[in-house]
Amino acid sequence: MAEKKNPATPIPVEDLTELEAARELAALAKDIAIHDVAYHQQDAPTISDAEYDALRQRNMAIESKFFHLMRPDSPSHRVGAAPASGFAKVTHAKPMLSLDNAFDEAHITAFVERIRRFLSLDESETIELVCEPKIDGLSVSLRYENRTFVQGATRGDGTTGEDVTANLRTVTGIPKTLPDDAPDILEIRAEVHMRRDEFQALNDRQEAEGNKPFANPRNAAAGSLRQLDSKITASRPLHFFAYGWGEMSPPGIDEMNAATHWDMLENLRRWGFETNHLATLRARVEDCLAFYKDTEARRADLPYDIDGVVYKVNRLDWQQRLGQVSRAPRWAIAHKFPAEQAQTVITEIDVQVGRTGVLTPVARLEPVTVGGVVVANATLHNEDMIKKLDVREKDTVIIQRAGDVIPQVVKVITDKRPAGTDPYEPLTHCPECESLAIREEGEAARRCTGGLVCPAQAVERLKHFVSRNAFDLEGLGAKHIAAFWADGILKSPADIFRLDEKSDEISQREGWGAQSVENLINAINECRVIPLERFIFALGIHQVGQATARLLAREYGSLEGWRKAMAALAKGDEETRAELENIDGIGPSMADDLAAFFAETHNMAVLDDLDAALEVEPFTAPASDSPLSGKTVVFTGTLESMSRGEAKSRAESLGAHVAGSVSKKTDYLVAGPGAGSKAKKAAELGVRVLTEAEWTEMCG
Ligand code: AMP
Ligand code: ZN
Repeated sequence: MAEKKNPATPIPVEDLTELEAARELAALAKDIAIHDVAYHQQDAPTISDAEYDALRQRNMAIESKFFHLMRPDSPSHRVGAAPASGFAKVTHAKPMLSLDNAFDEAHITAFVERIRRFLSLDESETIELVCEPKIDGLSVSLRYENRTFVQGATRGDGTTGEDVTANLRTVTGIPKTLPDDAPDILEIRAEVHMRRDEFQALNDRQEAEGNKPFANPRNAAAGSLRQLDSKITASRPLHFFAYGWGEMSPPGIDEMNAATHWDMLENLRRWGFETNHLATLRARVEDCLAFYKDTEARRADLPYDIDGVVYKVNRLDWQQRLGQVSRAPRWAIAHKFPAEQAQTVITEIDVQVGRTGVLTPVARLEPVTVGGVVVANATLHNEDMIKKLDVREKDTVIIQRAGDVIPQVVKVITDKRPAGTDPYEPLTHCPECESLAIREEGEAARRCTGGLVCPAQAVERLKHFVSRNAFDLEGLGAKHIAAFWADGILKSPADIFRLDEKSDEISQREGWGAQSVENLINAINECRVIPLERFIFALGIHQVGQATARLLAREYGSLEGWRKAMAALAKGDEETRAELENIDGIGPSMADDLAAFFAETHNMAVLDDLDAALEVEPFTAPASDSPLSGKTVVFTGTLESMSRGEAKSRAESLGAHVAGSVSKKTDYLVAGPGAGSKAKKAAELGVRVLTEAEWTEMCG
């Protein structure tokens, strides 16, 4: 346990060996690409923005030290291009601030006292505060020029956000034009959110269509607003409350005809913006705290999520004098609600299998009310979490809802533990399909290896199977897959090629006519011949993306050749593993995934089934007349005319394999200055060594 690599504390970049750096860059390129798709195309991020940024930073740090290892598919090449950052950047005319947080009454009293001191007000002076609920959504800035909506942006880092103008135009309630008495330039700050019932309905729809549900209304609102296709945003129920403003002209307070925040809220309403109707003006701290208590009591009944209340100094001249400290105004504070907690007993620990095969332990609870909602399940996240908390069946625990729909177990009350319980033992097999469940080094999750047979993963696998870079089967959309699957027409990928036997049954279904069924069957028939690399990619083996599938197809040539090698790998054949890992771009953890997939007899049955229904074309190397076609090339040392990445893709485009180390199979070693052990090995084995110039000539 002690020397196990902890992903939270990575090796410092200075200490990385070249091999480690190359492996990590490969893993990062893959991970970041997966997160990009999850975030931008499926609006279902699986990690936080901060974690995502950390991955990108790590990638950049390694690349700047090991410049020559920069990959052709490096995420750094994608900066600014869709879909990694899909939206144009907007610099806010005035920064969008955050708020200081307070968790108890003493903090609020201190806040008011601080203001009194700062403004040198004596005790008799009243400091009025506007009290508003703190909406748990995402903040946006709406810019109006000459009373016309011209630009909308997310908060981003406060200074720059993303341009989501087209999407915000689809949000009902955001005025496109303002009345004549509105200022020439006006930036409105508002909280976009989704109501709880609409969120529930959206999630039901997501599930029915075979898409991943959102964790909470805030995620759903953010995902809906940050869509590359504004038609999707338009189909989502979004609302907003205006609570503030940024740049405004004429800039003077008096000219605004408002001396107070309260008057400004009145102005916002007159100009056509919805503001929160619970907002109220209070003169004394005790009255503010009473508002807090009232609001907390009403929290569960409100149609939208809130996570506290906000107090703001009412007088605008005082706001101006108070200014801001770092990123928050001195004249406002958020009084947060505590997380909603309750005590209950875990009846059992169950394991759920997600759509991507991840096993998530779930605590089944004696039902209990938390913040107005009856809760019977709580997530335990993963095995490490269970171990850390030492959660056992029959334990009395504290659970907590923190915005998310699914509550978490935060603590075990060990005093109440009954005698004779055992620590939790992770499952070794998938509870849905009995396939082996493995956990790879550095990953928190355990996953099912029965991709092709696991009912929990079926719909997702089928969607992947027909996707553009796999079988590219148009006419069988996500909705159809989910519906066919639910009715048992489609269980495994090979069933697709038997749908022609069910055409009568399908044409009876709603939305299907004889013509559309015929089109589908024709489209399926066109997919019966498929290149090996697409076939491999379509299987959806963990970590085997398009690039890896291509490498495998190139190495093993035919489906038969590949299956034979992978079967040997699964049996633990060392030589096969060495050969596989020697392919540049394939590492030990990918080899583990391939081995796990091929060790599963259910998966092999599906492969046999597919093999019988299809003609999988052997890999054909492009440009077969090139002298490099079919040759194995290894690069070493520094190249002068191009990067290692470019040299590699050039060689591959001419039909060569690029390997990471020299062996008997190597045809050429291309050695730049600084070549070391590889050159020595090549000399020993009699492998032909080329200078960079000789190699470029050979490439033509
Ligand atoms: P924080 O995200 O903790 O920095 O809190 C600041 C955020 O609270 C702002 O950026 C807004 O998105 C959000 N917010 C929600 N309701 C209000 C409100 N009534 N007044 C100000 N900010 C609010
Ligand atoms: Zn399974």
